[in-house]
Amino acid sequence: MKTKVNIVWLKRDLRTQDHAPLKAAEEAGIPYVIFYLFEPSLLAYPDSSDRHLRFVYHALKDMNRHLQKFDRQVRTLYGEALEICQYLHEIFEVQNVYSYQESGIQLTWNRDKAVSKFLQSQNIPWFQFQRDAVVRGLKNRVGWDVLWQQTMEKEVLANSYTKETLPSFETPFQLPKQFQKKLEKYPSEFQPAGETYAWKYLRSFAEERGHAYHRQISKPEASRTACGRISPYLAWGNLSVKQALHYLYLHPNRKSHKRAFQGILTRLKWHCHFIQKFEMECGYETLCVNKGYESLVRPLDTSKVTAWEKGQTGFPLVDACMRCLRATGWINFRMRAMLVSLLCHHLDQDWRTGTHVLARLFLDYEPGIHYTQFQMQAGTTGINTVRIYNPVKQSQEHDPQGAFIKKWVPELTPVPTAFVHEPWKMTYMDQVFCGFHLGEHYPLPIVDLQVSGKIAREKIWGHRKNLQVKKEGKRILQTHVRNPHIQK
Ligand SMILES: Cc1cc2nc3c(=O)[nH]c(=O)nc-3n(C[C@H](O)[C@H](O)[C@H](O)COP(=O)(O)OP(=O)(O)OC[C@H]3O[C@@H](n4cnc5c(N)ncnc54)[C@H](O)[C@@H]3O)c2cc1C
Repeated sequence: MKTKVNIVWLKRDLRTQDHAPLKAAEEAGIPYVIFYLFEPSLLAYPDSSDRHLRFVYHALKDMNRHLQKFDRQVRTLYGEALEICQYLHEIFEVQNVYSYQESGIQLTWNRDKAVSKFLQSQNIPWFQFQRDAVVRGLKNRVGWDVLWQQTMEKEVLANSYTKETLPSFETPFQLPKQFQKKLEKYPSEFQPAGETYAWKYLRSFAEERGHAYHRQISKPEASRTACGRISPYLAWGNLSVKQALHYLYLHPNRKSHKRAFQGILTRLKWHCHFIQKFEMECGYETLCVNKGYESLVRPLDTSKVTAWEKGQTGFPLVDACMRCLRATGWINFRMRAMLVSLLCHHLDQDWRTGTHVLARLFLDYEPGIHYTQFQMQAGTTGINTVRIYNPVKQSQEHDPQGAFIKKWVPELTPVPTAFVHEPWKMTYMDQVFCGFHLGEHYPLPIVDLQVSGKIAREKIWGHRKNLQVKKEGKRILQTHVRNPHIQK
C-alpha cells in the first residue's frame, strides 16, 4: 500500500508565513511533503550562479529551523522536476501538488508544461497559486491596478503547522556531497539569506536606516544602508510583497517619514508591475520586446564586453560599480541603469551580451524585473524615453569625493579628487607627482564619451522612425501600459 500524500513544491517562495500552498496543504487533512528541487538543467543555464544557489540553500535552512518545531522539514532534491515527479508518483499515492505560479524564463515555463502534462495524465491536480498579484493569462493591463489593489488589501496569511511525522523514504535524488559542501559556505560579503534576515532588513529600514531613503537612493555608497535592501528576499520569496507592503504601511514611522515610506511603497508596486510584463511576454528574455530593434545592428566587440564585465573600462564609477557588484551582489538602481547604458549605448553592444552577466551577479536576480528593466535601459522598447547616462556626470553628482570609487578601484587611491572622475585629464607631470600612470596602473577610457554619446543618441533616436518600431510601439502600449492613452 502506498501512502497518500500531498506535495508542496517550493520555488521562489522560501518562507513559512503568508504562504498559500503551505496553507492549502496544511488544511487538506492528509500528510504532505515539502520539496525544493535543485534542477541540473537550470543550474547549467547561463543566468544561474553559485551565489543564487547558496542564498537558496541557506534560506531553506532557515525555513527548516522554523519547521523543525513541528517535526517538519523541506526536503531538498537534486534532479529534473519531471523525473522527480514521476518518481514520487511511484513511491507515494500523490493526491495533489501545490506551488506558486512562476513567471520565469523560457526554460522553467517549458519545464512546468512538461510537469503539468504528466500530472494531468495521472489525474493529479496541480494547484498553482498567484504570486505577488501577478495575474496569469492577461492580454492587457486594463483593470490590473484594481486587481493589484484588491490582492494587496487582503489579509497576510497566517500559516500554522501541525506536528506530523512522515514515513522516511529514500530517493535517488540526494544532493551530491560536493555540491552540498560548496553551498554550505556563505560569503559574509553577501546579504545573509532567509526569512529571519528578511524581517531584520525590513524592520531596520522602517525604524532607522531608511529615513533618508529618498535623498540617498542614487548614491552608490549611502544607498547601501539607506535603501530597503529587501530585493533578494523578495526575489527568492523569503518575504512576500504583501508582507512588506502591510508592514511598511502600518508602521508608526510612516507618518513622520512620508517621502521615504511613500518611495519604497511605490517601488513595491513597480516590482509587481514589471513581473506582470514578463508574465505576459516572456520573450523579453531573448528578443527585443519591440521587434523593430532587431534590425539595429551593434557589432560584437568581445574586448569591450570583457572590459565592462571585469570592471576595466577606464571609467572610474563604472568600474567601481562592477567590482562592488562582483564582490557583494548588490548596487542601486541608478548604478545598474548606468552599467547597462554604458554597455548598450556608449560601447554599442547588444543588450543580450550583458543580461546573463548581470543576472549571475545580482543576488536579487528576478527574471521578471531583470529583463524588462534591462530592455528599458537599453532603449529597445520604443516607448520609453531613452536615458543615455554620462558616467562622469553620474560620478561627479553621486560620488563627488570619489570615496566609493577609491574603495572599489584602489589603483586610483593616489589620484587627487580633482581627477578621480576623469583620470585621463591628468597631464604627464600630474601623474608623475602622484606616482600613478594611466595605461599602466589603470586603463585609459575604452571610448571617447563625447563621440560615443553622440553616435548612440543618433542611433537610438534615429531608429525610432523605423516603421516596425512605430508599429510595435503601439502594440506594446496596448499590451503593457496601464494607461495607454496618456503615455507619450
Ligand atoms: C538593468 C536592471 C536590472 C535590474 N534587475 C533587477 C533584478 O533582477 N531584481 C530586482 O529585484 N530588481 C532589479 N532591478 C531593479 C532595482 O535596481 C532593484 O530592485 C533595487 O535596486 C533593489 O534594491 P532595494 O531592495 O534596496 O530597493 P528599494 O529601493 O528599497 O525598493 C524596494 C523594492 O522595490 C522593488 N523595486 C525597486 N526599484 C525597482 C524598479 N526600478 N523596478 C522594479 N522593482 C523595483 C524591488 O523589489 C525592491 O526590493 C534592476 C534594475 C535595472 C536597471
